[in-house]
Amino acid sequence: MTMKQDLTNLPAAPQTVPRTTPTVFLPPFRIGLGDDTHRIDHAADYITLGGLRIPCGFGLVGHSDADVLLHAITDALLGAAALGDGFRDIGEIFPDTDPANQDRDSAEMLRIVSEQVRRASWQIGNLDCIVHAQQPKLQPHRTQIQERVAAILNIQREQVSIKAKTGEHVGPVGRLEAITATAVVLLVRGIY
Ligand SMILES: [Zn+2]
Repeated sequence: MTMKQDLTNLPAAPQTVPRTTPTVFLPPFRIGLGDDTHRIDHAADYITLGGLRIPCGFGLVGHSDADVLLHAITDALLGAAALGDGFRDIGEIFPDTDPANQDRDSAEMLRIVSEQVRRASWQIGNLDCIVHAQQPKLQPHRTQIQERVAAILNIQREQVSIKAKTGEHVGPVGRLEAITATAVVLLVRGIY
């Protein structure tokens, strides 16, 4: 017959690291996540996506140009860099209460943010994005979007991945109520 081990009375594990001054290891890279949604406006006839104007019989509602992909990328960069108060997300830097941001070019906002991130000594390792849209079909535009995003960020095309998914005709995306985008970015301690 085996005795059940009393887990409440085990000897303390040996201390391999002194408790007094813990060493904080900060790796020379950071990951960031961005996500955005914009409602479809059936009164308009084109969307702005990845800095490209794509005619598709509807638009997106937004204070700026409603570029859902560039907004997700902007937030991913800000999340990874964690620059602090006033720079936590796109809404904090470019509030929709400021008339200056009305119909603002999201490519310009992303360029400003990427410059701030560079000044904080980070460079972009790579960027992976998903656009969820029932329509329009994004396959014909993917390479152009990839090149445009790379140009805005002043990085190589190979550092940018753009994937497209439909909403499978369910949920807000599938019912053509919204388009959403998700982006992850890897920042590497930069030497420029
Ligand atoms: Zn947005």
